[in-house]
Amino acid sequence: MCGMSRLEDIVSLCKRRGFIFPGSDIYGGMSGTWDYGPLGVMLKKKIMDQWWRYWVEDRDDMYGVDAAVIMNPRTWVASGHAATFSDPLVECKECHQRFRADKIADVSENVSPDEFRAAHVKCPNCGKENWDDVKQFNMMFVTHVGSVSDDSSVAYLRPETAQGIFTNYKNVVDTIYPDLPFGLAQQGKAFRNEISPRDFVFRSREFEQMEIEYFVNPAEWEKNFESLLRDCHDFLENKMGLSAEMIHDLEVAPEDRAHYSKRTVDIEFDYPIGREELMGLAYRTDFDLMNIARESGKSMEYRDKMTNEAFVPHVIEPSFGVERLIMAVLVSAYSEDEVNGEKRIALKLPENLAPYRFCVSPLLKNKPELVAKAREVYDMLRDKYGNVTWDDSGNIGKRYRKQDEIGTPKCVVIDFDSLENGTVTVRDRDTMAQVRVKIEDL
Ligand SMILES: [Zn+2]
Repeated sequence: MCGMSRLEDIVSLCKRRGFIFPGSDIYGGMSGTWDYGPLGVMLKKKIMDQWWRYWVEDRDDMYGVDAAVIMNPRTWVASGHAATFSDPLVECKECHQRFRADKIADVSENVSPDEFRAAHVKCPNCGKENWDDVKQFNMMFVTHVGSVSDDSSVAYLRPETAQGIFTNYKNVVDTIYPDLPFGLAQQGKAFRNEISPRDFVFRSREFEQMEIEYFVNPAEWEKNFESLLRDCHDFLENKMGLSAEMIHDLEVAPEDRAHYSKRTVDIEFDYPIGREELMGLAYRTDFDLMNIARESGKSMEYRDKMTNEAFVPHVIEPSFGVERLIMAVLVSAYSEDEVNGEKRIALKLPENLAPYRFCVSPLLKNKPELVAKAREVYDMLRDKYGNVTWDDSGNIGKRYRKQDEIGTPKCVVIDFDSLENGTVTVRDRDTMAQVRVKIEDL
């Protein structure tokens, strides 16, 4: 049943087992925010670490940066966010609920008030049709820096990590002077004041991105685009364990692309909420570097080491959302089957992402010699693999169910035979098969 899960099943498992909780749960929540519990932190960290290893550490052409969340506001003037990073907001005059106009009517993001009225939609909340004018609502979170709260102190929480990379391009070129093509990668939080956050962590107001700006000679953008697209699929399928049949490339049509982009591929995934964007790959030309050159008055030229030719590189951007990736990983891994007439839920996570790789338990917790031997095995496995958990609660069947639900691939049980012959029972999450294995072969 992999991939047939419903969103409610995933949300419920995440809360029940300590992966993801509603943000500020104890005070009744905070719309559009989510908190990670002990299991969720481990899963998220592994996903982000695998990404960093794949895209940065295992390649010769990628470097990392980590920019501040609060940037000089000129960043957002140069990038266009200050003027155009907005969604069409419409308010129902009857119940005062606010909606994104293009989500409740078949209209574009740039819908005019008259166009929206002509669409004759009823309020999804109260069912009436009495709308205020559609307004463009800027999605950047505003804050004030320093103790004076006036126009000169206004700053924004970054709405994307990309600009923290672009604004450091010159620093990196001037200091380490990498060969072209090269990429700069960044992971970190971004903030968008979404009008209607929804669908679990899919669209939230505070989220985490993993982005790369890959700088190329403009004459070579096409082959670099193809090669990055292949790498995206390799990463999603072979490092994140997503099934290839659930991943789809959408060539974004010219009229739907950002005006500066000459090619964009949205990589979509079959979520329980439908086929939606998991990540994007966009050819952004020299749009961002030229914006920064204009706003800062500094040259963004790169001088080729061989030909001595100077030019402004073009950029290809693979952009990943951590939460969307977590959701895809959970959906791919979620499975239900029946064991002895009872429903069994298992998260069939790949070994490199499972929060715990092994669960170790003594068959009986009131036998000191079993507990001592189990502790020995636990310490050995933890030294070897790091992520190992201990469980001596309830009966063995209950322990297996719990470990299945949190995605632990192998459960190791120490019994009286272990004391005699140094073997243990290893039970597999996916097949439920149990085999005897020598402790030193674990
Ligand atoms: Zn209403």
